Amino acid sequence: MKKMKCPACGSKSFYVKDPHDQNTLYVFTCEEGEICFDPEIVEEDLPQLQDETETFCNDCSWHDSFKKVKIDFK
Ligand SMILES: [Zn+2]
Repeated sequence: MKKMKCPACGSKSFYVKDPHDQNTLYVFTCEEGEICFDPEIVEEDLPQLQDETETFCNDCSWHDSFKKVKIDFK
C-alpha cells in the first residue's frame, strides 16, 4: 500500500505555497495515498503537485520536494 507521510514527524498534513503568491498556502492531507486539498480551495486554484514542488509539513518544520513525501511502506 502506498501512503505518504512527513519523513520527520509522520504527519499526513502538508501545505504548498502558491507559486505566484508566497503568502497563499494550500493545505492538503494524504490518507491512503490520496491527496486531499482543503475543500475550501476553489478547484481551478489548486496547485499542480510536481515532484519538485516544495512541500511543507503542517506539523513540524520539515520541507522538501514533493517526491520526498512519497513513501512506500508495508
Ligand atoms: Zn513533519
